[in-house]
Amino acid sequence: MTTTDFAPLPEAAALPKVRLPQGLLLLDGALVEPLDPARRIAVRDPSTGQTITTIPACTPADVDRAVAAAHRCFESDAWRSMRPLDRGRLLERLALLVEDHADELAALESLDSGKLIGITRAIDLQFTIDGLRYFAGWSSKTPGEYITLSPLVAEPAVYRAYTERRPVGVVAGITPWNFPIGQAIQKLAPAIAFGCTVVLKPSEETSLTTLRLGELILEAGFPAGAVNIVTGYGHDVGAALVEHPLVRKIAFTGSTATGQRILAATAKTMKRVTLELGGKSPTIVLADADLDRAIPGAAAAIFSNAGQICTAGSRLLVEAPVYDRVLEGVAEIAQTLRLGGAFDPATQVGPLISAGQRDRVAGIVEGGVAEGAVAVAGGATGAGEGWFYRPTVLAGLRPDMAVLREEIFGPVVCAVQVADPAELIPIANDTPFGLGASIWTRNLDRAHLLADRINAGTVWLNTHNVLDLAMPFGGNGLSGIGREFGSAAVHAFTEPRAVCMRLDPQAALR
Ligand code: NAD
Repeated sequence: MTTTDFAPLPEAAALPKVRLPQGLLLLDGALVEPLDPARRIAVRDPSTGQTITTIPACTPADVDRAVAAAHRCFESDAWRSMRPLDRGRLLERLALLVEDHADELAALESLDSGKLIGITRAIDLQFTIDGLRYFAGWSSKTPGEYITLSPLVAEPAVYRAYTERRPVGVVAGITPWNFPIGQAIQKLAPAIAFGCTVVLKPSEETSLTTLRLGELILEAGFPAGAVNIVTGYGHDVGAALVEHPLVRKIAFTGSTATGQRILAATAKTMKRVTLELGGKSPTIVLADADLDRAIPGAAAAIFSNAGQICTAGSRLLVEAPVYDRVLEGVAEIAQTLRLGGAFDPATQVGPLISAGQRDRVAGIVEGGVAEGAVAVAGGATGAGEGWFYRPTVLAGLRPDMAVLREEIFGPVVCAVQVADPAELIPIANDTPFGLGASIWTRNLDRAHLLADRINAGTVWLNTHNVLDLAMPFGGNGLSGIGREFGSAAVHAFTEPRAVCMRLDPQAALR
């Protein structure tokens, strides 16, 4: 596969050697320039702030080309008649190629996103490879259902009825910047497995690994148009995908504000949507928890990936008898975590994605402190050229404070003391979101009964942020609509079709 060796810019001599993708779009089975190649977006390394390269800022006309190709492929006899197992083999071939290039892809991801290289290699790339293999297996297992007709039909015995699941059509996979390559696969793999075709639009902040994936998709031998990749801004390229009449489904992961815009825009065409959005997930520590596990668990729940995880445990709700110990323990971890660049092996917390995101986080924390919150740890930007923000623990909060209500998407946790589980439940549910929650306790009865009362798409018990491809994932309320992963993907990427047949009652006797 053709890639260009990374040629460091003069001021970027310290950057690690990674291989940059060619920066070409995958359209209709070829790597091509956008219609206006001069429109570019600068790609910056969050660890240093330096410019690495540029990517195409596509236009709606490029979207039109991509969707037309995806639609042609979807309607083609070749795609419609392809054996499901052969669609699975495409995903398996891509898994092998990603595996072969895992180190290179991990380095590219870390350079582009600031994610720690060890994490990118061990988690993001493994998730990507496993995701391709997991959904390759699903390709041959699309379920259907036999239906016994009700007595409303005069002669039920001469009817045969069943459902089959048909691919929904052209899928637009629109993804955010916190798990770039993993999110691309999260949309691509189930779409292909269930017979859809796809147009991927990665975040303008982190498109490099998706572009490189396009080169590997070509190498894996996907039919022309089955997968297409466009890059660019959300307000034009993303919006054009959402508006396009030939796109039948939007598989979106990103902010609640964008999800709401997409939902409103798709009302006109009634496109299918799955929306994986933001959260304000509670980490709940009960008095009987094993604090040796709960304290580092609560810290990891918020500080991993510098808090840029949709299910980050951003509200720490602690039962009164252990509140001081937990607060002190999490604050101590926050103070000792080492901030640094993505490629420094000593780094424990990397940068935020952009200067804008760092300033947004700083602004929300400053607002909270101005309203009376106390920064027990952190509360300031980190030193260095990159976009760092110190792991922060806030206490002394009132329920109406923005810092306790809004998704911050940074390494900031709000600690709240609760008297007992009865007081805890309304506090945990006092949010328009409903994405994740963890409960830390040694008491299994309390764990399960409390889990029943928490409004969240996923509840973890004595752990947090475990995402498994076999477990349905998604949120309630403003955290989104629908579920991805596991058997939920069948519903997300297919439509049920009922088939009803009347037999000739005399046929067997003739
Ligand atoms: P974002 O909404 O700004 O952007 C996400 C994607 O949508 C990008 O590709 C962007 O270009 C595109 N986009 C923007 N405006 C659009 C429009 N009008 N029409 C169509 N597409 C548009 O989100 P972000 O800042 O990249 O990501 C952070 C957010 O993602 C956080 O809120 C986080 O909680 C959420 N997230 C959720 C999950 C989940 O599974 N629930 C996972 C990861 C991230």
